[in-house]
Amino acid sequence: MDKFKQIADNLSAVKAKISDAALRSGRAADSVTLVAVSKYLKKDDDAMHALLAAECYDLGESRPQTLLEKAEYFSKQKSKIRWHQIGSLQKNKVRKILPHVSLVHSIDSAELLETIDRIVGEESLPPAHGLLEINISGDVTKRGFSPRDIIFVLETISKLRHIRIDGLMCMSGLYSANKERREEFAATRRLAEKLTPLCPNNCRMTKLSMGMSDDFPLAVQEGATIVRVGSLLFDGIKF
Ligand SMILES: *Cc1c(COP(=O)(O)O)cnc(C)c1O
Repeated sequence: MDKFKQIADNLSAVKAKISDAALRSGRAADSVTLVAVSKYLKKDDDAMHALLAAECYDLGESRPQTLLEKAEYFSKQKSKIRWHQIGSLQKNKVRKILPHVSLVHSIDSAELLETIDRIVGEESLPPAHGLLEINISGDVTKRGFSPRDIIFVLETISKLRHIRIDGLMCMSGLYSANKERREEFAATRRLAEKLTPLCPNNCRMTKLSMGMSDDFPLAVQEGATIVRVGSLLFDGIKF
C-alpha cells in the first residue's frame, strides 16, 4: 500500500479509537487532541507530508534539536504545524526552540521553568505555554515532578511572568500492566483536580497530556485531553 494511504488509514483508526474511548467515558469525541509523534521520521520523509495531507497539524518531537531542524525546514513551506516538545528539554536548548514550539509537555524542574521564563522575557516572545511532567509511576528511570512536590512548584510558577502552565503530562510506568496504567492516568487527573483551586493566575489545569500508542484509549477514558501517538500511526510503513 502506498505511504499516504497507509498513514491516512492508520490515522482514521487511531481517531476512531479516541472518539470511542471519549464517548464511553461520557465526553465529546472532539475533546481530545491527537499529537502525532513524528520523532521516527526524517524531515524530508514522505510520511511527514502524508500527516499534513491528512490535516494532522499537531506534531510531537522528542529531541529539541530535531524539532528545531524540522520546524525550520517546514517554516519555508508556510505550513500550519504546531510543534510539541514532548521529550526532555535541556536548558541550553530553550532559546533556540522556544520561537517554534506551541506547547512544552515536559517541564520537569523549577530551574527549567525559570529558564524558560527568563528567555521568553529576554527575547520578547509571547508567553510560553507548558505542562508540568509528573512522575506518576514513581519509576526511578522516569523524569518529572513527584506528585508530592508539585504543590511547591506552584509557588515558583506564581513568581513567573512569561510562562503559562496549562496542565499536566505523564507517562505510564514501563512495567505497569493495563490496570496499573489506568490507575496512573486516573491519579494524574485527580492531581490536576486537586491543584486547580491552588493554581496562581498564570496556571490552570485544563490540559492532560497522557497516553501513547499502547495505552491511549485507557488514558482517554481517564480524562486525557491530549494523546501522544507515534508508532501506531506508522504501522506497516517502511522507513
Ligand atoms: C516517543 C514518545 C511518544 C510516542 O510513543 P509511541 O509508543 O511511539 O506512540 C509519546 N510520548 C513521549 C514522551 C515519547 O517520547
